[in-house]
Amino acid sequence: MPEPLIHFIIPFFLLVMLGFNLRKAALISLLAVIPDLDVIFHVHRSISHSIIFILVVTVSIILILNYFNKKLRTEMMVAVLVILSHPFMDVFTGYTPILWPLFNKSVYIFTELTTNMNNVFDLNLIFKVNFDKIIFLQTTNSDAPIFTSQGVGISLVLLAGLAMKNISIKIHSTTDLMRYYFINLERRNKKWIKQQKNK
Ligand SMILES: [Zn+2]
Repeated sequence: MPEPLIHFIIPFFLLVMLGFNLRKAALISLLAVIPDLDVIFHVHRSISHSIIFILVVTVSIILILNYFNKKLRTEMMVAVLVILSHPFMDVFTGYTPILWPLFNKSVYIFTELTTNMNNVFDLNLIFKVNFDKIIFLQTTNSDAPIFTSQGVGISLVLLAGLAMKNISIKIHSTTDLMRYYFINLERRNKKWIKQQKNK
């Protein structure tokens, strides 16, 4: 399974890129970790990983919240997509009951492109959609990493991208400001010269 850090950082990166402020993006992205809270009950990849279950729960919550506050509609829709990103990512790393209870099998999409560099350059593509029985077994062993070095590496690259975007916005707005200042200065100079000539 992708670790919680990856589940968080990918929607966070996308939301900031889409223009959400850092606080809002962080709060919404934290929701992407919710499906893995099933480990608290010693079950992993339980019904909390079913897109049907997620949609039923989130749409019901949205309908109730929408009754009280209609302004948050966009944020709520984005939050649903962010939570759905969790089973979507999990289905590529292990058996996930993504369509439970409509489809009573766990799905695991395995894909890999490998090269053979020995004598002849060879490419080997594997794409398999695997199915397995859904068993929501309680497990006593629920050790799972919150982050790994690979996840930290990916996160740092994405955060560097966000920092660079922020710096480039600042540079652009500073140059725009300077340009505006010099254009104004030139206009004022021309006006002053005109006034001097008319005297
Ligand atoms: Zn998961």
